[in-house]
Amino acid sequence: MLSRLTSSIGRNRISVQTRQMSFELSDTQKEVQAAALQFSKDVLLPNAVKYDKSGEFPWDIVRQAHQLGFMNPIIPEKYGGPGMDGFNTCLIVEALSYGCTGIQLAIVGPSLAVAPVFLSGSEEQKKKYLGMLAAEPIIASYAVTEPGAGSDVNGVKTKAVKKGDEYVINGSKAWITGGGHAKWFFVLARTDDDPKAPAGKAFTAFIVDGDTPGITRGKKEENMGQKCSDTRTITFEDVRVPKENILGAPGAGFKVAMGAFDLTRPQVAAGAVGLAWRCLDESCKYALERNAFGTPIANHQAIQFMLADMAINLELSRLYTYRAAAESDAGGVSSYNASIAKCFAADTANIAAANACQIFGGAGFNCDYPVEKLMRDAKIYQIYEGTSQIQRMVIARTLLSHFTHSGTSKM
Ligand SMILES: Cc1cc2nc3c(=O)[nH]c(=O)nc-3n(C[C@H](O)[C@H](O)[C@H](O)COP(=O)(O)OP(=O)(O)OC[C@H]3O[C@@H](n4cnc5c(N)ncnc54)[C@H](O)[C@@H]3O)c2cc1C
Repeated sequence: MLSRLTSSIGRNRISVQTRQMSFELSDTQKEVQAAALQFSKDVLLPNAVKYDKSGEFPWDIVRQAHQLGFMNPIIPEKYGGPGMDGFNTCLIVEALSYGCTGIQLAIVGPSLAVAPVFLSGSEEQKKKYLGMLAAEPIIASYAVTEPGAGSDVNGVKTKAVKKGDEYVINGSKAWITGGGHAKWFFVLARTDDDPKAPAGKAFTAFIVDGDTPGITRGKKEENMGQKCSDTRTITFEDVRVPKENILGAPGAGFKVAMGAFDLTRPQVAAGAVGLAWRCLDESCKYALERNAFGTPIANHQAIQFMLADMAINLELSRLYTYRAAAESDAGGVSSYNASIAKCFAADTANIAAANACQIFGGAGFNCDYPVEKLMRDAKIYQIYEGTSQIQRMVIARTLLSHFTHSGTSKM
C-alpha cells in the first residue's frame, strides 16, 4: 500500500532550516499519516481492549501492519524494506499509538534492534538481518538492560569472551521487549576484563540469532500497561557467536548501543504524542456529552482549562518530536533534541492521561471506559529508552558543554 509513496519520502522531510521553516507536512507525509491513522482507527483501536485484557501478542495485527509497510519503515528498499526516513516513521508511530500504544509497541518494538544495525552494520549484516525483517513479520529485540544495570549502562555485566573465531556470551538481560518472539537479538556485552576500562572501550555489540543454543527466554512479565507487548528476561549461557556478528568494531559497543537512541527516541516521543492526542479526543468527546449542574461539563471553565492545557502540551510535544526526527534525519544536534522530545512528550502523555481520568470523573477510574488504560499505558514512556531523569541528564550535559564553548545556551 505504501510502496508507491516510499521512493519520494526521503526527499520530502520537513524543512528545519531557519529561512525555509515549514510547519506543513508534504503531500506524501500527509498520505503516510492518513494511511496509518486509518489502520489505527480501523484495526488497533477496536482491538485495544481485547489485547489489553488477554495480554496475548497481537500477531494478526502485526502481520497486517507488516504487509502495509508500517513495521520497520526505516529499512531501506535495497534490503526489501519501505525505505522511509525517521520523520515518516514518527508519523506512523504517532498514528498507531492513537489506537493503542501496546499493539503499536508489538508492531514497532523491533525498531530499537533495527537502529544499531541500520547505523553500524556491515553490508552483509544489513542484507541478512534487516532483509529478514523486511521479508517477514518477525520480531528482533534490543538486549542491553540487565537485572543490575538499567540507566547505568556502564554497569552491564554480561560477558563475551573471544575463543578462536567465536565469542562466548554469558549473562542475563532484563525487560527485553519482544524477547519471547525474537528471531535475533542485539546484545551488548563486556569484552574488556579490566573493570576500570572506559565505557567507550569496554563493550562490544553483537547480533545473536535467536535459535543459538544456550539462550533461555524467561516468563512473560506482567506489566502495568502496554500489556500485549512481550517483555522478558533473556539468559545467555555459553552462547557462541561468530566474530562476523560483531556490530561495528570490537570494543565500540557502547557507542553503537547508545547511538541508536538518537534515531529511536523521537519515535518513542511520537508514541507518547499519539497517546496524548487520544486523551484529548476522548476528553473533548466526554466533556461535550456529560452534563453536570444543568450543562455539559465542557462549559465549566475548570474543565476547559484542563482541555486547553492538554492541547497546549500536545501541540508543543508534537512539534518538538517532529523537529527532533527531522534533525536526526539531517544529522543535526540529535541527542539533545531527541532527549527533549522524549522527555517532554512522556511527561505530557502522563499529565494528559491523568487529566483525562479526572474529566471522566468516576468513569475515569473504571475499566469499561477508555481512559484508565491510557493512564496505565502512559507511565512507561517516562521509563523505557532512558528514564525522564536520564533524558534531563543528557539535555543538561549537552547544554552546559555547549555553553562552556560558546557562552550561550542557544544551540
Ligand atoms: C516494559 C519495559 C520494556 C523495556 N524494554 C527494553 C528493551 O527492549 N531493551 C532493553 O535493553 N531495556 C528495556 N527496558 C529497560 C528500561 O530501559 C529500563 O528499565 C530503564 O532504562 C531504567 O532502568 P532500571 O529499570 O534499571 O532503573 P534504574 O536505572 O535502577 O533507575 C531507578 C530510578 O533511579 C533513577 N536514576 C538512575 N540513575 C540516576 C541518576 N544518575 N540521576 C538521577 N536519577 C537516576 C531513574 O531515573 C529511576 O527513576 C524496558 C523496561 C520496561 C519496563
